Amino acid sequence: MQVIANLKAIPKVQKFRYLMIVLASASMLGPLAFLPQLVGSDDLCGTLCMRRFYLYFPGMTWEDFFVHVNAAAIGVMAFGIILLTTLFFGRMWCGYLCPVGGLAELSSRMLNDRWKIEFRSLPQVQIRYGYFGFFLVAMPALGISACSLCNFITIPRLIEAMSGEYRGMVFLVSSVGLVNLGLLLLLGVFASKGRAYCQFMCPIGAADGLINRIGANLPFAHRIRVAKERCTGCNICARDCMCGAIKMIDKIAVVDQVSCMSCHECVDVCDWNALAWTTPPRHKINEPKRIKKNTEILPTPDWQAVHFHGTKLGAEEGGTAKGPAVSWVSVFNAMVLLTVVSIVIVGSFL
Ligand code: SF4
Ligand code: SF4
Ligand code: SF4
Repeated sequence: MQVIANLKAIPKVQKFRYLMIVLASASMLGPLAFLPQLVGSDDLCGTLCMRRFYLYFPGMTWEDFFVHVNAAAIGVMAFGIILLTTLFFGRMWCGYLCPVGGLAELSSRMLNDRWKIEFRSLPQVQIRYGYFGFFLVAMPALGISACSLCNFITIPRLIEAMSGEYRGMVFLVSSVGLVNLGLLLLLGVFASKGRAYCQFMCPIGAADGLINRIGANLPFAHRIRVAKERCTGCNICARDCMCGAIKMIDKIAVVDQVSCMSCHECVDVCDWNALAWTTPPRHKINEPKRIKKNTEILPTPDWQAVHFHGTKLGAEEGGTAKGPAVSWVSVFNAMVLLTVVSIVIVGSFL
């Protein structure tokens, strides 16, 4: 059967990653959701919500902000821990634990490729941060609830519905439930690699991606890095990357740190050891080759973390890769476009 064949083809480290996702999901969702229950909640909403406390409402004061923080106190702490671990180790929550993005990815992985839609080539940075700005400022100003397009509510309710709970079934037949279920199927299960919601619409992922990018400069930060001198430009890593974070530039793999989720799959599939989850090199870059008894010893790899930088793609540790432009004006344009479309949709319902 195709599902079994797809599961068997998963690389070893990825099987471990999926095991972590399944265990995390079992502890956070459905009848076994003991982690939420430990903190007095029965799902990922309320005190556990990580997506609402930083929204800007017109006329908001600091007092209002702290009321929101207080209402979602555990979610605020969890969000802080996620960002802190990302700073040091890359996006462990998104890649290894989040039941919401992880289950969608796993379901998509089991599905035959011919059923899937390819979203990874879209300009994800512009769409993600355009939507993030819209979510933070324009949505509250328009009176659209942060819960209306939230997959953190949909997946727990879906699991509830599947285990026969009334609340889950009612949610899934409501208009909000149907829209969210449609998004989950379109941008998750039927998306190539299952991470399109994470790429475009998740506010937690958008903030986490920024921390991943900022932290890549730090000497102690583990990130997925490329040794340019080893890369053959075979494109296998780019084809397998679930986030579309790898681009081939001048026939060398370039990992965009603002989109990478540290899932390690590119490292698993690279036959040339040109990728690694590691800290920046401590040796001098471009150290000359050494010759010993007529044997050439290659210099220690120059592991680079690369990212979109201003209007061009630039390497962090001295590289000069040129690539597609990412203009923050286009991010702003995406935000304005989303706001106008929402005003039209909300207006047509009034
Ligand atoms: S981007 Fe959002 S939904 Fe995706 S894995 Fe991260 S937190 Fe979960
Ligand atoms: S799989 Fe390895 S060798 Fe091939 S393009 Fe990616 S990094 Fe380069
Ligand atoms: S670049 Fe590698 S580690 Fe990052 S998301 Fe893509 S496959 Fe995973």
